Amino acid sequence: MEKNTSRKDLSARVEELRRQYGSELVILAHHYQSDGIVQHVDFSGDSLELARRIPEISARHIVFCGVFFMAESACLLARQGQKVYLPDHSAGCRMANMARAKDVERILSFLADAGRKTVPLAYVNSSLAVKAVVGKFGGAVCTSSNAVSMMEWAMQRADTVLFLPDQNLGQNTAKRLGLSEKQQFVIDIAGTTLDCPQSRDARLLLWPGFCPTHAVNMLPSHVENIRKKHPGCRILVHPECTPDVVDMVDGAGSTAFLIKEAEKAAQDGKEKKLCIGTEYHLVNRLAKRFSGTLDVLPLVKATCPNMEKVTLPKLLDTLEGIADGKNIVTVEENLKAPARETLVRMLDHCRQAKRPRP
Ligand code: SF4
Repeated sequence: MEKNTSRKDLSARVEELRRQYGSELVILAHHYQSDGIVQHVDFSGDSLELARRIPEISARHIVFCGVFFMAESACLLARQGQKVYLPDHSAGCRMANMARAKDVERILSFLADAGRKTVPLAYVNSSLAVKAVVGKFGGAVCTSSNAVSMMEWAMQRADTVLFLPDQNLGQNTAKRLGLSEKQQFVIDIAGTTLDCPQSRDARLLLWPGFCPTHAVNMLPSHVENIRKKHPGCRILVHPECTPDVVDMVDGAGSTAFLIKEAEKAAQDGKEKKLCIGTEYHLVNRLAKRFSGTLDVLPLVKATCPNMEKVTLPKLLDTLEGIADGKNIVTVEENLKAPARETLVRMLDHCRQAKRPRP
């Protein structure tokens, strides 16, 4: 690719390649991707929507615009012979990197040896290797859309649930299920406090991980500022925000929930402003979409540096290199089955939970 190629040329070339590959190529993007990427994809969604979409895809090539663990999940759910590509393999998730498979395995083994019936529940924002450990210990994954339902699922199966890696999502979900603070315990990764009375009494053990975009960049002071500047404005945030932020606002929910609330507010026309606390590319896209009908304000302009690593030149580079397998994502064969099991358990449970009860 020429160094000085303009954005317009890059876009035109991406579209040309999409036309050439036709039904053999599908490009997916997470909602946190920039507009420059989203305009070229077949489907954008949150983690759950994207995971549900993969098994329905018949194209041979799936280009995933997101972070590494998402592409790994796509590999697990892809059909035999399908290939998954990620335009930048260094696009990791800082939260996912806070839980290493060997630490998770050590802690689950310790709990098992201590005779505690424990089910691990991993937020989908975790590495394939962590998912494989969770699968081996009978656990599942969840997304922010189904964390409440999946935590209930795990609670029904064990004395103790180990939720990882997002402490905030764990605590915010536990609150929605009515778990007291005494029933929760934040472990240390070294495992030195696992045997203390608070840990032994806890129904929910929480891994001390967090998403810097939501947990570090979105603060109570930002909520106070919005309240002062825009009195009466409803504020909604993502549950990766800290519980003190979630407690101050009018609601918290997954990316899909936040988008739906903005759509409803724009349609009703009763509210003039809505403030959303999540990744800025998404909030800005909603602001543009509803401009003139609803003012969508960011709680703060926080982006995810790893999501931003996927750029238009890298997407084009990936498409041009498909024939050579450039940027292809592969997963270790021995991790596939137990990791896949965690995704299948989640998707099965969600399907059953949706079915009307007799
Ligand atoms: S926004 Fe947070 S959770 Fe999402 S990919 Fe970035 S670091 Fe990970």
